[in-house]
Amino acid sequence: MHPTNDPNLKSFVDVKPESHFPIQNLPYGVCRNKAGGEVFICTAIGDYVLNLKKLEASGVFDGPELDGKRVFNERTLNKFMGMGHKAWAEARATISNLLDADEPTLRDNESLREAVLIPMDEVEMMLPVQIGDYTDFYSSKQHATNVGTMFRGPENALKPNWKHLPVGYHGRASSVVVSGTELHRPQGQTILNEDEKPVFGPSKLLDFELEVGFLTGPGNALGSPIPVENTREHIFGMMLVNDWSARDIQKWEYVPLGPFLAKNWATSVSPWIVTLDALEPFKTEGPDQDPEPLPYLKTKDGWYDINLEVYLQAENMDDPHCICRSNYKNLYWSMNQQLAHQTATGCNVRPGDLYASGTISGETEDSYGSMLELTWKGENPIQLPNGEERKFIEDGDTVSMTGYADADGYRIGFGEVSGHILPAKK
Ligand code: MN
Repeated sequence: MHPTNDPNLKSFVDVKPESHFPIQNLPYGVCRNKAGGEVFICTAIGDYVLNLKKLEASGVFDGPELDGKRVFNERTLNKFMGMGHKAWAEARATISNLLDADEPTLRDNESLREAVLIPMDEVEMMLPVQIGDYTDFYSSKQHATNVGTMFRGPENALKPNWKHLPVGYHGRASSVVVSGTELHRPQGQTILNEDEKPVFGPSKLLDFELEVGFLTGPGNALGSPIPVENTREHIFGMMLVNDWSARDIQKWEYVPLGPFLAKNWATSVSPWIVTLDALEPFKTEGPDQDPEPLPYLKTKDGWYDINLEVYLQAENMDDPHCICRSNYKNLYWSMNQQLAHQTATGCNVRPGDLYASGTISGETEDSYGSMLELTWKGENPIQLPNGEERKFIEDGDTVSMTGYADADGYRIGFGEVSGHILPAKK
């Protein structure tokens, strides 16, 4: 086990057992003080963010540099992500050491500590990367089977290609927003009955999709695929993704080229990027892949044991209500296979590109990762503690998702991705 993953490591910063951000995590984010001021790159420790820009400027460590410039001075993580695994591992080891309970440099320097450790509730988290390209896969077999069964019947649920390649589509990067961004219900063209004319108006079947995305570090040159055995070196970390979906718009528009406007209006992501280095102890075996994937997709890597939960809170509810418990290991295709497939043609990827997993549904009904599946097209509405029921997402609802991997004595968490739905804009 790498020393930065040692369960016995402790920080001098107090970290509660259920905290998502022990010293073994050290995710990366970008934020600024709610009171105003500069934007800075940070990590999380317990209930605090650590200002890496200011910490480096204080001279206690020499952070990663590119072309003679400090990458922790940037407003996004793209440059750091592009530097590759050696730079990531060095930065992680340095930050871990500075936060260690046995290391006096920061622990015993009160003025520096007060300057660089800021209570999390005093900062506003921002989108940590400039996302150049966004791909959404469709890699949970249970999700694909559920949706296929609803629309084509159980015999035709999985199309012939599904077990041979990670199905996906190119999404819209401009509308990827950070957790907490309020969203207006989208409007679009829908059809109520096949023999009627389409109408334009607010979507009536608004849905979420529980997904986890990975972000690429160093890219590849156009024309040079990334072999599946090298994909690990190109993946920086992961974030939670809510791939908002307007099911009525999707149903009418998707033939024959796939999702378009049903999903281009917003995709919400969590503000922290959890590194693959932090997730290393949670690697798990993937599913049996039968038929055997073609050689360019063959790998045992890329599956992790990460608990996932979805909560729904209506405006008149005091607390969020859990409506789904799933796990990242439920994916049939792993992120390493997804990246090998994405680049197999020679398509180039760049630092900070986002690849979402597809809705992650498990085998049990309470592990389905969308309202479409949880309510089975609205046939079995969800009962809420306030006495209301939900077939799909209503105006005023807040959907939040969380994820965490549990080890003996600590938890590697993703924080949350939350989004509040406002009425359609007139
Ligand atoms: Mn999706």
